[in-house]
Amino acid sequence: MSKKIAVLPGDGIGVEIVAEAVKLLEALQRDFGLKVELEQALVGGCAYDDSGSPLPESTLSLARAADAVLLGAVGGYQWESLPIAKRPEKGLLGLRSELGLFANLRPAILYPQLASASTLKPEIVSGLDMMIVRELTGGIYFGQPRGVRILDNGERQGFNTLVYSESEVRRIAHVAFDIAAKRNHRVCSVDKANVLECTEMWREVMIEEGKKRPDIELTHMYVDNASMQLVRNPKQFDVMVTTNMFGDILSDTAAMLTGSIGMLPSASLDANNKGMYEPIHGSAPDIAGKNIANPLATLLSVAMMLRYSLNEAAMADRIETAVVKVLDSGLRTADIAGAGCQVVGTRAMGDAVVAALA
Ligand code: NAD
Repeated sequence: MSKKIAVLPGDGIGVEIVAEAVKLLEALQRDFGLKVELEQALVGGCAYDDSGSPLPESTLSLARAADAVLLGAVGGYQWESLPIAKRPEKGLLGLRSELGLFANLRPAILYPQLASASTLKPEIVSGLDMMIVRELTGGIYFGQPRGVRILDNGERQGFNTLVYSESEVRRIAHVAFDIAAKRNHRVCSVDKANVLECTEMWREVMIEEGKKRPDIELTHMYVDNASMQLVRNPKQFDVMVTTNMFGDILSDTAAMLTGSIGMLPSASLDANNKGMYEPIHGSAPDIAGKNIANPLATLLSVAMMLRYSLNEAAMADRIETAVVKVLDSGLRTADIAGAGCQVVGTRAMGDAVVAALA
């Protein structure tokens, strides 16, 4: 039975990079028997211009009915002065919360061909391939009570609440273990169990769930050490699972190890592995419409979608191998260009990946 993909290009370079993703999916349909149906809708600034809402009901219904959502990026200078509720980013946040996407998956992959793009020494990062699984809908970003109050002495006091229920920890543990089972079977859970009771419980629940998964080697690390280890020896990690705030910070560090924002895909999953897939970068209004954006993060997001939501691991492998072949051939978009490489535009890079699928 054919699976439904909601395709939401969004704004800026989102339109250009998602066009390459659609080209790739159509090639997989035509030449390799992939059974998917694609339907496009507006989200972000373009949706606001069209209907007055960054997340129209029709887009939300399409996303709810789909097996997976492919998103480009949202945002742009022309919408920056709108009230917050109408801004393009609200469309993205609305999709995440309405679809219950509690697990954020951010791979940090550094292709050896691009090792010189990192700020770290090539021998530290070359061949890096790790996955950060961040809890996305709980923890201190959502805990109540929160706010700023006035104390008796007139001083202001800001406060937030770090709170996790067992079930929230168990479900993110399952996501991390299932992903590790498709990789190298190792999970490192990052917490601050020596100081924070909430994450002491996080660790206990991880251990309980880990006992049910003898196929997975589970280890634990305090967040301060994890931040150090990420820059000291990042290749020691396979899958890292952590709370919302720790994951927010550590995933940006991990992304920067690779030095190439145009190369990194991401996924946000719900309890049934339905997901939204998008490059980690934004709509890059500074280069929009110039045919110079790197489409590879989006094409690699398609690979993640095939692997995690559509159960098409062989198709995902095919895309990832094609990207490696294209990098081996020396083709680069401007953002990852280096000495001796041939610089090509967005469409030519998309064509090259399609040609390398065979
Ligand atoms: P950005 O990621 O759009 O761009 C940062 C820099 O990276 C820019 O110089 C841009 O040209 C470059 N860049 C980004 N993607 C690239 C690609 N694929 N190929 C080549 N170069 C690339 O971040 P920003 O400039 O801070 O934000 C621009 C807009 O995007 C804002 O409106 C912001 O709110 C929005 N945004 C959206 C998302 C999202 O949709 N998920 C994420 C971040 C920012």
